[in-house]
Amino acid sequence: MGMYAGEEWTDMTDFESAMKKVADVLHAAARKSGEILENTKMSYNISMERDKITKIQNKIGEKFYKIFKDGGAVPEHIVDDLAAIAAIEETIRTMEKTIADSKPFKFCSDCGAKLELNDIYCAKCGAKQHDISPASDEEDSDDSDDSADSGECCDEHDKGECCSEDEKSED
Ligand SMILES: [Zn+2]
Repeated sequence: MGMYAGEEWTDMTDFESAMKKVADVLHAAARKSGEILENTKMSYNISMERDKITKIQNKIGEKFYKIFKDGGAVPEHIVDDLAAIAAIEETIRTMEKTIADSKPFKFCSDCGAKLELNDIYCAKCGAKQHDISPASDEEDSDDSDDSADSGECCDEHDKGECCSEDEKSED
């Protein structure tokens, strides 16, 4: 090697140039990692820009689909695609109706409209429903005292397995 001769560095020029090489390598590495950072950032920006394109394309598609549904003129070569969307929407509607039909329901105490079991107000006429579950029923606390005292002693009363009957038989 010739850089180290016995007990000390004999050739400072070699040492300096070696150190410079190390510094150059380190500097190059730092620059490279900086470039990698820049590239990562750029890749991210590219995907952001691609997202923008996708969003605009979606908007274009939605606009054409609306025209198609309204019976307007659309480019002939995209009619099949638009018809496919319409078919999918119809499928979704059918499935949603099936779900809605299988839900438990009740009828509005005022207008008779079909409501979901948990509906407190009628979606059609807005009337407050009185057949909501007793646990969450606050309104009836005042005016339903009469019915509460009308001989119904417990949950089993309607089934005829009521505790008052036991009491009666004992008395
Ligand atoms: Zn109603």
